[in-house]
Amino acid sequence: MATPKRFIAGAVCPRCAEMDKIMMFTDDNDEQIRECVACGFTDAISDAKQPENPELETRVNQRENTDDHTVKQVVFFKAGSED
Ligand SMILES: [Zn+2]
Repeated sequence: MATPKRFIAGAVCPRCAEMDKIMMFTDDNDEQIRECVACGFTDAISDAKQPENPELETRVNQRENTDDHTVKQVVFFKAGSED
């Protein structure tokens, strides 16, 4: 449901950096919209939680232990052939 526009106290426009110029309202699509009356900036704010960055970076340095036996074999053969 659409809601009347209301100012957000203390909100700063990300475009023009004016304070107390941001109005927030909900449009007919149930989207929350913020609008700057100073510069005309508008932005849709989804109610759905934005997915945080998945924990990709934390796994970069992890090594797989499944290769342990292979490593030992490689070292064993290395002694005579590759080095
Ligand atoms: Zn603005």
